[in-house]
Amino acid sequence: MQTISHDFDAIIIGAGPVGTVLALQLAKQGRRVAVVEARASRPNTDSAAQDPRILALSRLSVDLLQQAGITLPPDQLTAIQQVHVSQAGAFGRTLLSGADIGVSDLGYTIAYHDLDQAVGQALNQAPIHLFQGWRGEKIGNLATYTSLTIQHPEHGQQLLTSKLLIAAEGGSVLQQLPSLHHHVHDYEQSALLCRLALAEGYQHQHIAYERFAEGGPFALLPVGQDMMLVWTRRHAAAEALLNSSPAEFLDALHQICGHKLCFAACVSPPQAIPLRLKLANKLHAGRVVLVGNAAQTLHPVAAQGLNLGLRDADTLLPLLANVRDIGAPALLHRYQRQRQRDRLTITAFTHSLIGLFDHHDPISRLGRGIALSALDMLTPLRQRFTHKLVFGLER
Ligand SMILES: Cc1cc2nc3c(=O)[nH]c(=O)nc-3n(C[C@H](O)[C@H](O)[C@H](O)COP(=O)(O)OP(=O)(O)OC[C@H]3O[C@@H](n4cnc5c(N)ncnc54)[C@H](O)[C@@H]3O)c2cc1C
Repeated sequence: MQTISHDFDAIIIGAGPVGTVLALQLAKQGRRVAVVEARASRPNTDSAAQDPRILALSRLSVDLLQQAGITLPPDQLTAIQQVHVSQAGAFGRTLLSGADIGVSDLGYTIAYHDLDQAVGQALNQAPIHLFQGWRGEKIGNLATYTSLTIQHPEHGQQLLTSKLLIAAEGGSVLQQLPSLHHHVHDYEQSALLCRLALAEGYQHQHIAYERFAEGGPFALLPVGQDMMLVWTRRHAAAEALLNSSPAEFLDALHQICGHKLCFAACVSPPQAIPLRLKLANKLHAGRVVLVGNAAQTLHPVAAQGLNLGLRDADTLLPLLANVRDIGAPALLHRYQRQRQRDRLTITAFTHSLIGLFDHHDPISRLGRGIALSALDMLTPLRQRFTHKLVFGLER
């Protein structure tokens, strides 16, 4: 049975970090906000359903989360002070450093699980109507308002209406809007995620490593005393590594990770996540607007997905403040225009990294070595590059 339950200023589908920042800030602006989240609850600390991701967040992203009211305890954050970029088996490296842009830390890592818990707590304490365990299903996108049919496994259906509908759910419900679609590129690769304990005598020294090797790039992020590996491999190679013994796994990693690091053990069994690029053709249709993973889902090689999504929220929020009709398509069009440069540049940059480091002939290696060394030596260029990575293209 369907009932009209509520009317809101804004409905947000998806209570991930990006949807939640928007919800909290819109509530602070005095808006009546509904958040619809399909998960019945967030996995607790002991749950096997915990997401294994460790996210590298820029300083700006951490500020945006905290300003919204999401408390990130300092003991859950590990500072990244430098980023070391190199290629295996060839010369050339770049060291990006907070000192280059006058900050002590370029960013921080946090377990997705801890972020998710903090996001949930903030949402529960805010004056927001949270439909937890309800799935957003059918969108109505009309001239003066939007509607969303939501479905609960036990409580049936409800119909919500609002001036503005924000899709922050990863893009799953958008196929219904004829003018919106995603360009999808399947990398035919998986990201192997594994938390690693450093061998005795080794420390990460708050350096994140980005290394491009034959077979796929990998990142090593400092997290607590450990490091998190995000290793991109073709599906078959990833599968073989998953099925290898811990000693074989570490051996394969040591062969390409250079001499600076040595690992004693996998803290948790490796897990594989398939990788795709998904880029929406535009950021709004009528009164429906896309943010975060609904707007773009990136390869994790450059650790930019959530950073970009939070900048979506940061651009949208001031446009919605103090306006009579927060879903006015002209406003959403301005948001789309303002986001274009940052999102397309970062998406193209991330995508091109995969191809750029995919050729292993001597000429390509030499070219990359020269480029990495040049970036390392040309201080103003390196400073600008670091600033853009930390603060986005619009600041
Ligand atoms: C391996 C890996 C490593 C990564 N590392 C980094 C990194 O280091 N730095 C970085 O910035 N980014 C990184 N990312 C990207 C980052 O995880 C995402 O960009 C980010 O989580 C997106 O946040 P979001 O709020 O847009 O969406 P999500 O976090 O995906 O949240 C979407 C929410 O919507 C809900 N939902 C979905 N469908 C519906 C529906 N129909 N109705 C209601 N609710 C729904 C889901 O349950 C979920 O809670 C990484 C990604 C991967 C896969």
